[in-house]
Amino acid sequence: MTIKKISKDAFGKFVDGLIKQQKVMGPCAKGDRFEFEQLDSSSQLRLDYDVTLRPPNRKYFLPPVETLLTCEVGGGYQSVYDDTEFVLLGIHPYDLAALNQMDQIFSRDNYDTHYMKRRLAATIIACDVVTPSKDVFAASMGTATAEAGFDVLLTDIGDSYLMETGSPKGEKLIEKAQGAVDAAAGDLEKRKNIWKENQGRLSKHKLNCSSSYLPKLLEKAYSHPVWEEKAKTCFSCGSCNQVCPTCYCFNVQDDVSWDFTKGTRQRAWDGCLLDGFTKVAGEHEFRKKREDRFRHRLYRKGKYVPEKLGTKTPACVGCGRCVSACLPDIANPVNIYNRLIDDLGLE
Ligand code: SF4
Ligand code: SF4
Repeated sequence: MTIKKISKDAFGKFVDGLIKQQKVMGPCAKGDRFEFEQLDSSSQLRLDYDVTLRPPNRKYFLPPVETLLTCEVGGGYQSVYDDTEFVLLGIHPYDLAALNQMDQIFSRDNYDTHYMKRRLAATIIACDVVTPSKDVFAASMGTATAEAGFDVLLTDIGDSYLMETGSPKGEKLIEKAQGAVDAAAGDLEKRKNIWKENQGRLSKHKLNCSSSYLPKLLEKAYSHPVWEEKAKTCFSCGSCNQVCPTCYCFNVQDDVSWDFTKGTRQRAWDGCLLDGFTKVAGEHEFRKKREDRFRHRLYRKGKYVPEKLGTKTPACVGCGRCVSACLPDIANPVNIYNRLIDDLGLE
């Protein structure tokens, strides 16, 4: 592990150099919001962003629509892969935690070649949060800062950035950073203070238990009235799914040309809150009621995924996007889990 310090001016030149060599995706302003886009120049980069509209991990590794294969009569089928090398620059620690969780999901039981080829072609430069968003609660989910899972971690310490490497890929990358010098003890102290402050600043909603307690809490909450109460005003719009960095459900569809000579297989984002998500052959639908779908999302975040992966980290990283996206204001996981704690206690 190497920790270097680089002035902001030199960092801009380093990014411009990277842009000449490969695609670099980073947070850019979109009106008064932010979104990850391909950079043409370091001047577009906004590392002071609060939160992006869409989570970068899903946008780049599990795109909204993707062609998996094409086929043709007499020509068989061809899998379609994208393994273009690129740098994902400026991902916040909570989205990094979601990315690392998704890596496990897509590489474990059913190795997903489409996802993994893109993932292995990427270099991840994470970035500590400078401006907390209005709904972020990463501190409650243990994702306000990052200790691993990046190739390089950037921290803004005022007039410079600290760059910590987390992999051989990261080591190789920062060799290109002209003007970077070894970080001094005082620089590391500044970074330590930023990490400490971010535990307080990234806490706009506060979970009243340890996030590792959620599976146990949910074990006794399946028949709680909160699911029906909240679902009464749910539009089943699926916005909470679409903006979430840890939602990964997709639908697969085959399309054939009118003369049946060629076709494509595509996958596209799906969402467990949408009506029809669980419809199977014979018109059977096993989560037809809105409250069942509403409950499923919260169980998946707090219990099913952590149990599947054998981790104490929930599948909610506290980015706060669903809180901002939900018009009837019912999607906030913290509000629901805290309500369950109030009613069911902590043991
Ligand atoms: S909880 Fe909110 S965002 Fe999610 S589907 Fe219901 S209304 Fe839409
Ligand atoms: S459930 Fe909401 S707050 Fe949690 S990771 Fe998903 S979008 Fe972010």
